[in-house]
Amino acid sequence: MQVTVLGSSSFIPSLQRSWTSLFLNLGGGDAVLVDAGSWRLMGFRFDVLYTKRVYITHNHPDHTVFIGALIRRMRRTGRTHPLVIFCPTNTVQRLHQFIRIWNHNKIPSFVQIRAFTPGKPRTIDRLSSSKTEVKAAAACHTTLTAGYAFCQGDKRIIISPDTGPKCPTLLTMAQSANAWFHDCTFATGRLLSIRKGHSTPQNAGADAARANIQKLILIHISGLRLRNPQAIMAAARLHFNGDIVIARDEMTFTF
Ligand SMILES: [Zn+2]
Ligand SMILES: [Zn+2]
Repeated sequence: MQVTVLGSSSFIPSLQRSWTSLFLNLGGGDAVLVDAGSWRLMGFRFDVLYTKRVYITHNHPDHTVFIGALIRRMRRTGRTHPLVIFCPTNTVQRLHQFIRIWNHNKIPSFVQIRAFTPGKPRTIDRLSSSKTEVKAAAACHTTLTAGYAFCQGDKRIIISPDTGPKCPTLLTMAQSANAWFHDCTFATGRLLSIRKGHSTPQNAGADAARANIQKLILIHISGLRLRNPQAIMAAARLHFNGDIVIARDEMTFTF
């Protein structure tokens, strides 16, 4: 499977970094998105129009704001096959608002929303062409939030753009995963991470070590912090010996 980061920024974006969205080409014609905060969904790419699912992590605008614009583009291609959107229960209303704004105050009939309550890791979806099992687990954030796992055979990729450290449900889901796209919102040394529901690079590195994963990919990064990527790397390295990447928009990872 291939994962392309369409938005790697935290709530404060920059010209180079948009808000959170990841595009997953799972193979066999199965393509999906995690979150819809990136302005790259508005017209920079055509492949996103063929996604079958959108897995939304939570209702904050930096993860949801462009869902309506994406659906408008899909509607204008004459799309009829379903777009299924999975989201936590308290996110439905926010999605409805953003979809209506861009679609003549209507929810197009091809859109299906499936709300769930994230908790312990469990399977929420299967995509048959690519033989992918999708799991969700509660992330530790300021509102009801999910992290997702995409599993193909022995391969498992974890995506949790907004979470505080040591989140037990995510650590269980991430155990021995191939890669973890992990929150890295706060600057090195800042102690607010747990209270604010976000992580520092040290936190992300420590989580990667706890879960014994192979590759840590830092996402949801404040643009202001990237003046010193070496410091971010060094902080994440304090606890974790595996591969570490600081994600940028349009970076693609193959697993
Ligand atoms: Zn958030
Ligand atoms: Zn966020």
